[in-house]
Amino acid sequence: MPLLKIDKDECAGCGACIDACPFGAIVMVGDKVEVSEQCTGCGACVDICPMAALSLPERAQETSEDLASYQGVWVWIEQFRGEARGISWEMMGQGRRLADARRTSLTACVLGRNARQIADEAVTFGADRVFLADHPELAEYRTAPYAGILSGLVRRYRPEIFILGASSRGRDLAGSVATELYTGLTADCTGLDIDPDSGLLRQTRPAFGGNIMATIICPNRRPQMCTVRHRVFETPAPDPDRRGQIIEINPALGKEPIASRVVDFIMEEGEVNLADARIIVSGGRGVGGPEGFEPIRRLAEVLGGAVGASRSAVDAGWIPYAHQVGQTGRTVRPDLYIACGISGAIQHLAGMITARIIVAINKNPEAPIFGVADYGIVGDLFEIVPALTEQFKKRLGGKR
Ligand SMILES: Cc1cc2nc3c(=O)[nH]c(=O)nc-3n(C[C@H](O)[C@H](O)[C@H](O)COP(=O)(O)OP(=O)(O)OC[C@H]3O[C@@H](n4cnc5c(N)ncnc54)[C@H](O)[C@@H]3O)c2cc1C
Repeated sequence: MPLLKIDKDECAGCGACIDACPFGAIVMVGDKVEVSEQCTGCGACVDICPMAALSLPERAQETSEDLASYQGVWVWIEQFRGEARGISWEMMGQGRRLADARRTSLTACVLGRNARQIADEAVTFGADRVFLADHPELAEYRTAPYAGILSGLVRRYRPEIFILGASSRGRDLAGSVATELYTGLTADCTGLDIDPDSGLLRQTRPAFGGNIMATIICPNRRPQMCTVRHRVFETPAPDPDRRGQIIEINPALGKEPIASRVVDFIMEEGEVNLADARIIVSGGRGVGGPEGFEPIRRLAEVLGGAVGASRSAVDAGWIPYAHQVGQTGRTVRPDLYIACGISGAIQHLAGMITARIIVAINKNPEAPIFGVADYGIVGDLFEIVPALTEQFKKRLGGKR
């Protein structure tokens, strides 16, 4: 059911709302407008209508007492086949920091099958309390049951902040939960802080194509929800001596009609795991074509690293998108990042600037990449990369 209501008696059929709708959800049928399921209830059309024929259902506004009753910081712990994803522990590090700043508790939400050990791990990473929903139906991630359980828990326990990793599943889940709870969601954050005056969560993320950093707040709804990019924050060290409370919840699953079922997982061959790579050798437009990635691959192989790329190389079709590093690609945090034939545009740097050591190989001594590199080599990558490969081969011998 679309959210927008149209008073057909008042509608003059002027079409002003059609132009105002960012989702193309309003169409002219005869001499009146109609709204489709595309309507998100954003309200962009409501004030445009000269006849005041459009309205949205009133949402109950929360009072300041309501808002104050939300307390605590929550983190969703993502797991795949019984193993927690590294991004969740990065979120726990941030969750702990924010909870301490707000002088409140940190809760981890673990959903899965045979996931007790993940709940225990969550405590070592800083959780004061863990909600554990352990059920065969939760073995594989599916939006509806996961979002239903988390929304139910939020309604009951009222956290003020809820953080999820910006993985594919985290993005999907966060959007569903925020929609169900009718609260705000800031996606893909790269910075989180508590405003010292208001106590609100300041959620920072790149905006307008990375040209500005926007800091977003959610003053009127709770919880304040965000997803955070992988590898932006360090993974905290686990403390095996920490103690926390684990609360098992028994979700009523298995009776409702199933809208989707996971039939199988087919792993992509040669899957690239840039986010966890300790060493990355990346190629940019300077490699000149798909064959130009061969020396890059050989160096990565000798070092036991992964192959990355700039967006220019990906857009040119020289290498698949899965290799792209940067603002619209992966964020990486390797020990060693070797940028070959990459100029160092801000959008590329956004994805690799936290690498421990950056080496740049570029024939232009003025290339901006040298401004962030720990070591720079000015010259032709087709001479330098094979020479480095030979040297590493000799020095590492049979160790790789
Ligand atoms: C909204 C938005 C999002 C974006 N997201 C990303 C992103 O996620 N990742 C990303 O990378 N970019 C991204 N970009 C694009 C970014 O702005 C740059 O255009 C891109 O990073 C440039 O790629 P490059 O360095 O490979 O190419 P270029 O800027 O063309 O640089 C090529 C470099 O290779 C050097 N070179 C050439 N031949 C050789 C040789 N034989 N030996 C050594 N050096 C050589 C040149 O001196 C030059 O410095 C984004 C842009 C926008 C607007």
